[in-house]
Amino acid sequence: MIQKIDGKTKVLGLIGNPVEHTISPSIHNILSYKLGMNYVYVPFCVNKGMLEKAIDGARALNIEGLNITVPYKEQVINNLIKVTPLARQIGAVNTLKLTSGGYIGYNTDADGLNASLVKNNIKLNKSSIVIIGAGGAAKAVGMLCAREKCKQITIINRTISKGEKLADNIRQYYDTEIKVIGLNKIYNISPFDIAIQTTPIGMSPQILDNPIIDDKFYNKFHTAVDLIYNPRKTQFLLKAEKNGLKILNGFEMLFYQGVKAYEIWNDIKISEEILEDVMINILNQYR
Ligand code: NAP
Repeated sequence: MIQKIDGKTKVLGLIGNPVEHTISPSIHNILSYKLGMNYVYVPFCVNKGMLEKAIDGARALNIEGLNITVPYKEQVINNLIKVTPLARQIGAVNTLKLTSGGYIGYNTDADGLNASLVKNNIKLNKSSIVIIGAGGAAKAVGMLCAREKCKQITIINRTISKGEKLADNIRQYYDTEIKVIGLNKIYNISPFDIAIQTTPIGMSPQILDNPIIDDKFYNKFHTAVDLIYNPRKTQFLLKAEKNGLKILNGFEMLFYQGVKAYEIWNDIKISEEILEDVMINILNQYR
């Protein structure tokens, strides 16, 4: 899919560790191909202790755009000249854009999830949301739910203190009603609208795991979203589907967070037609 590499080709990339599993190169290289842009996107596995050197090196090489993934989304903030207000609220950066003074940090995870929910007609506004997990991804999810004026948020997490920390962080910016409960205390949860599963539980290769096995939980809401995209249907989504709920996996969130990053790097808005075409292409690659 990569166009001819020549003297004018510019490099984009992903910094993380590990990076072998990523499908971001497919998203960005197909986007460049379809848009006729002379870019190549490559993954960079950066070892512990080498992040600062990697960012300095990328700047020296004039790498115009980078994505940042686990475990560097928070740490990288120390190596940037500026961070957008949304990334500051979330406390994590997944996209860097080069400017003359250095890199600016953005977070496109929240907007990626939002685009995926809008496309699938899942409305956060005025909905009661349960967020399962309180890790890095949950921060973006929580801030998005509050920003979209959901009715109420309940954070379910194994470690209550981490759930409380996430709730306090959201309360700094929004007056949303937020409750926190332990993963072992969900049996008396009140009915709600949407559950968003943000833990890595059920991700390949541990595809038989599920953070919530109690069948009664799945009678309390109408829509189940899992941020995991491999497998396409986690045990959490399979159980939700069996109970007649609407389900959505994390593929489109991943796709749209990548698209948002590409739009930031190039200062463009990509048409729906091109996005549809690119998405079909990627789905065919991973079918
Ligand atoms: P993370 O920061 O490591 O999140 C850990 C969370 O999962 C914590 O709440 C942790 O609970 C909980 N957890 C982990 N193992 C557990 C277990 N065995 N039992 C109970 N709770 C457990 O990870 P992350 O960066 O947020 O990523 C989470 C998932 O989201 C990953 O699968 C990632 O691929 C996916 N994701 C997808 C997208 C997308 O675009 N689709 C974007 C970002 C992330 P404690 O607090 O108790 O430790």
